[in-house]
Amino acid sequence: MGKLILKPGREKSLKRRHPWVFSGAVAKLQGEPGAGDTVEVHSATGEFLALAAYSPQSQIVARVWDWKKRAIDGAFFEERVKRALEQRRALLETGAAGALRLVHGESDGLPGVVADRYGDTVVVQLTSAGAERWRETIADALLQAGGVRRIWERSDAEVRALEGLAPVTAALRGAREPTRITVAENGLEFGVDLEHGHKTGFYLDQRDNRRRARTLARERDVLDGFCYSGGFALNALAGGARSVTAMDSSADALGLARENAERNRLAGVNWIEGDVFQRLRKFRDEGKRFDLVVLDPPKFAPTATHAPKAARAYKDINLLAFKLLRPGGLLMTFSCSGGVSPDLFQKIVAGAALDAGVDAQIIERLGPGADHPVALNFPEGDYLKGLVCRVPG
Ligand code: SAH
Repeated sequence: MGKLILKPGREKSLKRRHPWVFSGAVAKLQGEPGAGDTVEVHSATGEFLALAAYSPQSQIVARVWDWKKRAIDGAFFEERVKRALEQRRALLETGAAGALRLVHGESDGLPGVVADRYGDTVVVQLTSAGAERWRETIADALLQAGGVRRIWERSDAEVRALEGLAPVTAALRGAREPTRITVAENGLEFGVDLEHGHKTGFYLDQRDNRRRARTLARERDVLDGFCYSGGFALNALAGGARSVTAMDSSADALGLARENAERNRLAGVNWIEGDVFQRLRKFRDEGKRFDLVVLDPPKFAPTATHAPKAARAYKDINLLAFKLLRPGGLLMTFSCSGGVSPDLFQKIVAGAALDAGVDAQIIERLGPGADHPVALNFPEGDYLKGLVCRVPG
């Protein structure tokens, strides 16, 4: 087995059980491991630290499978997947057509592996050389989730390129068709496009927050800024909103959203194709006002290096949103940028309120549901944060 020997002092993060080895921390490589092979990681003094998957092309040159010596084989993946499935079973109630995340990468001890369940279909996304190496084993292990008839792969995330991996979209187990399916979430039905939908097809991490929006929307004029397939907008309407305006820059996303509205017999959303940055300004200039604004933008800062530019974008839309709120109005605002910490996000929103001239309060802090755990040794997993802010009545 190959060995990575670290530079002096660079064992510290691994000792805190952070599962990534950066290429700059490595003094030398012994042996000739291929991409995805298991290697031992040792400190400069020769202490064994971990077993990890080697990824020669990536800046994250190895991702830890385990902290003790053991076989990394089929049984290992079966065990890890089983553990993840059992945790979901214990924590969540979801019917057969339910949608939830079964495996959440590093936080479930499976770096580079995401698996989302949509009814009888599990969609896997493999984003590291190690995960790629064990594709077939992982697919078989996921079949253990009761009632699963198909494993579909959506390994087309951009981060794969950093590992030297080509994009893959294919059926791994079971039939390819249908590639459009319907899932139930909190009593509403949503179409999921397995082939072209964002991420693995749906933003599962927002499930609990969409339900929350349903309660908050009652008798309010609601604006859903980045609506994708209509998740927040349709929940708002189902919750008794007075009016719902929803926008997205993607015509395909709006197509799905309109279909979802029909599927749930929820008519009356004002769907707008356009750029939120421009539209919010236009609404401001026209004097248009709302009682609940939801902002769930895409990742403006995938990593911390993008944070300053992302901060300006978050501030811009939040400032405009505060200006569009009537007295007593609510802003439900999110960031899914790994490069923007919860603390920084709160500061940005505070700056936006200040510049908008409103004394807003935080009335709730939001995050993903229990199917998206964040391992305490892996703060990078804490990417989704949300605030519900209230402006004075
Ligand atoms: N809230 C949604 C997920 C939103 S994902 C849900 O619960 O399912 C972010 C969305 O923002 C994507 O659909 C993307 O098409 C859209 N988007 C990205 N940039 C945009 C922009 N400048 N203006 C409007 N929409 C944008």
